[in-house]
Amino acid sequence: MKNFCKKFCLLSFVGLVLFFTACAESETEEFTLYPDNQGDIFLRRLYPNDLAKNDSAAANIAHGITLVVHPNATYQLSFDVDPNFDAPTLQLFRLYLNKEQTEWHGSKVRSLKPDIENGRYVYSFICEENSFTEWATSLVLDETYYKGRVSNIRFTGNGAYSDHFSINLILVGNIEEEIEGYTIDELASNLLQEFRAQYTSVTIDTLYINYASKHPTLGAKYPANEPWLAGASSEDFFLSELGGWPGIEDALDIVLVHYIKNDGVLGYSKPFSANLGKGAGSTVVLGTHIKTPYGEDSISMKDIVETALHETGHFFGLRHTTATKADIEILQGDYDIGDYSNLDDGLDDTPYCSVGYTKSLMKIKSTDIVKVPGLSRIYIAGNTTTFNVNNCPDADNYMFPTTVKDKVLSFSKQQLDMIRKNLMIFPH
Ligand SMILES: [Zn+2]
Repeated sequence: MKNFCKKFCLLSFVGLVLFFTACAESETEEFTLYPDNQGDIFLRRLYPNDLAKNDSAAANIAHGITLVVHPNATYQLSFDVDPNFDAPTLQLFRLYLNKEQTEWHGSKVRSLKPDIENGRYVYSFICEENSFTEWATSLVLDETYYKGRVSNIRFTGNGAYSDHFSINLILVGNIEEEIEGYTIDELASNLLQEFRAQYTSVTIDTLYINYASKHPTLGAKYPANEPWLAGASSEDFFLSELGGWPGIEDALDIVLVHYIKNDGVLGYSKPFSANLGKGAGSTVVLGTHIKTPYGEDSISMKDIVETALHETGHFFGLRHTTATKADIEILQGDYDIGDYSNLDDGLDDTPYCSVGYTKSLMKIKSTDIVKVPGLSRIYIAGNTTTFNVNNCPDADNYMFPTTVKDKVLSFSKQQLDMIRKNLMIFPH
């Protein structure tokens, strides 16, 4: 909430700052129309190759949403032609904070006319940034915001990088003393075996094991003799500073801690806008235990491995097959302005759990979730289950939002295609 408020407050300046910039342009230059969604601009994002409906992004794109973009990738934004209006120009803006970090500014990076293909406007562009970022949008017609209907919006991306990656398993705190029934070597070997068996659209080269306590510059912060609690021992749930490990900077960093501070949460990942380098979005975090209202429970090796594959799915852009309220909810005052057109992941080959179950999922999540900017996987303990998630047709998919008992999990073909496509977008 702190972050949101900061962004919102700061962004309320954007309109003013950008307005003055626009007035200063000479009449011979191309007309520039800056987004005027101000504080709401970061609330609607389009992620590359996401197939969810994204109706709220479509409704807001003329006045300003953001597009998540990575260096050197080629993108296409498309939506249906509205025959009642002429074609709008898409303007794209780089957003950056001023030196004092008090005001957001924007500079135009593209002004694009669409091609028309099969009744759809198609805007194509390449991202030439140095690292992943978000570009803001406006749609312009006759020097004002486009008023036509924007429907069936799609944002696709193709990257320039390889379809191989390596995994760096980072152990934090006294993991080895606390696990029972398996060793770290068994966990690592199981993890690599399952990744290779399930992530069949890509190649996993190597799995490295590293200890946070032995990090060349940060080691002293991560003592090896105490349990590490993500969100308590460190404010950053993701331990992002450990991402981009020296010498293997481009590996996928899976950070294993004792537990994550929120009740029942097995793992966290930043959805969609992840990166294989360092900094924000560079880690997936997992616990060997879960926090419960009564203390803690240990997690089986099988659940840890399944959660690793699930969270990595988010990392590469997969949504839950059935969304939960925590995935969607965006509270603005008393109102939830989340996009409820995104209950489904939009893929044709992943089933969706019925409305009844969705409501149950939402009920459970709304009582136990604490907001962290990432997607979590929730542990459903047998004795507290109020409905049987095993009856959901997507319960045997890796991207089902909770644990299930006695299911053999898999990814669908479309999910595997999306993993490969997005891996090739992330610089590595
Ligand atoms: Zn999840």
